[in-house]
Amino acid sequence: MTQMNQNDAYVLVLDFGGTKLATAVARIADGELFGYQKVATPASMGAEACLSLILSTAESSLEKSSVPSDMIRGAGISFGGPVSADGSKVVLSMHVRGWENYPLPALVSEHFHLPVRMGNDGNVAALGEWFYGSKAIPDHFMYIQISTGIGGGFILNRKPYTGQGLGAEVGHVKVRFEDAAAYPCACGSYGCIEAVSSGWALARDAKRLFETGSKENIFYRTVKETGECSARTLVVAARDGDPEALSIVRSAFSSFALSLSDVITLLDMEEIAIGGGVAVNSWDLLEPILKEKIPNFLQTNLRGRTKIRLSQLKGTETLLGAAKLLDI
Ligand SMILES: [Zn+2]
Repeated sequence: MTQMNQNDAYVLVLDFGGTKLATAVARIADGELFGYQKVATPASMGAEACLSLILSTAESSLEKSSVPSDMIRGAGISFGGPVSADGSKVVLSMHVRGWENYPLPALVSEHFHLPVRMGNDGNVAALGEWFYGSKAIPDHFMYIQISTGIGGGFILNRKPYTGQGLGAEVGHVKVRFEDAAAYPCACGSYGCIEAVSSGWALARDAKRLFETGSKENIFYRTVKETGECSARTLVVAARDGDPEALSIVRSAFSSFALSLSDVITLLDMEEIAIGGGVAVNSWDLLEPILKEKIPNFLQTNLRGRTKIRLSQLKGTETLLGAAKLLDI
């Protein structure tokens, strides 16, 4: 562990998602995390059980971090679902019953006697990647995460941007029109980029390919050998030269390039960072497709202006963004 200095400032950080809860104490100056804890979310047990797990896991992070309580300036919460525009309430949770209009920050504040801020996970991760993952902090920035779903957020003029509170839903930009019905999305709409390029969408395509594709190809043999038919299997087979798997992955990533081109056209960001398990595990395939496709989708004077890079924070962007919520 790095030495602590009495001038350092720290923030208790909490990342509550549909399947896991992570907590830690973050040092604001350099984003180092202390006392990291990760537990499964007891979503089916409802709001009160989740609150008591949040409080006890955070207490355990505080204890394990050995950071003195007078050096902790507040707490930041990343919430995996929509939150009110002022960050004071959970709007609803897709995973936990009883959290409609739930004043989570006030309850955490009351327990720890600290000021508390809360944001939606995509927007919070954008804040973390912007501040702690960029070499030179850009004024206009976008973070997009391709994991099971697709989420992300914007920093515009060095501030998070969410419109009236529910904006920056980058996973639900439309990329399919005439055949949109073949791509139903978890959001209730059709043809979204999440329904085409996310981990769950690629897993769906992998299953379709296994059922209908050639029984002679690398993908089919890989599934038979490993017993796994997933986004990962599809990407591995594409990398190994399976033509059908490569065609699906190229199409999904080309659609992703299209969605990025549209936000570049609208917002002219300086930098876009891409994170999440699917992006990290397939960057060698994704990056060349983005470099090939994006310039073709942009008007000439926008080409080459936006730096596109892989996330640098190895999955800690959400916790670090929660630390930065106290300081924006
Ligand atoms: Zn959608």
